Amino acid sequence: MKKNKVGILGGTFDPPHIGHLIMAQEALEQCNLDKIWFMPSASPPHKKVDGVSSGNDRVKMVEKMIGEVEEFELSLIEFEREGPSFTVDTMKELKMKHPDFEFYFIIGGDSVAALHTWERIDELMEIVTFIGIERPGHAFKSSYLDSIIAIETPLIGISSTMLRKRFRQKKNTKYYVTEAVKDYIEVNQLYDEG
Ligand code: ATP
Repeated sequence: MKKNKVGILGGTFDPPHIGHLIMAQEALEQCNLDKIWFMPSASPPHKKVDGVSSGNDRVKMVEKMIGEVEEFELSLIEFEREGPSFTVDTMKELKMKHPDFEFYFIIGGDSVAALHTWERIDELMEIVTFIGIERPGHAFKSSYLDSIIAIETPLIGISSTMLRKRFRQKKNTKYYVTEAVKDYIEVNQLYDEG
């Protein structure tokens, strides 16, 4: 059977955490997708910009997190262009490369609420179907709500920001990120002070 229903999970992944894994797996199952492509956003290589870890580190962490899971893949398309990309341009390119694929774009409640601010959102909506997942602390509200698939999952009160802080403060991070990601962060001292 041809695998052609693809859910994209775009993000900064600084670091990737179990919230991302849960949303990916729930979208996969509830929307009968064939694959999830984790798509880290680009930033200049080997450089910290506004506190964001290098693209290289974020890609490595995503790779480690998805490991050998057959349905999960890494998409480096945003690194193939110079500088940051608008999602609409990335998705147009993907659609051109894979015209027979059906693309879904998985987002959390904070992104749902901000959809109206996305570059050329109406054009993007023609290319992808959004799958929205509620997020604690964010109202699940948008003028685009009728156009997206809202799936139900337990609320996951975890964010990358919270985890960077926990690593910096040497607080518990076990089970919030996978072991391989935790090791990578600690060996490379990604979020240490200074
Ligand atoms: P930050 O703390 O910087 O906001 P983040 O935890 O949102 O980071 P991203 O890599 O920016 O991590 O997230 C990618 C996508 O995953 C976004 O659409 C975001 O809304 C969604 N997401 C991340 N964590 C959760 C969560 N706990 N519940 C629901 N959606 C989430």
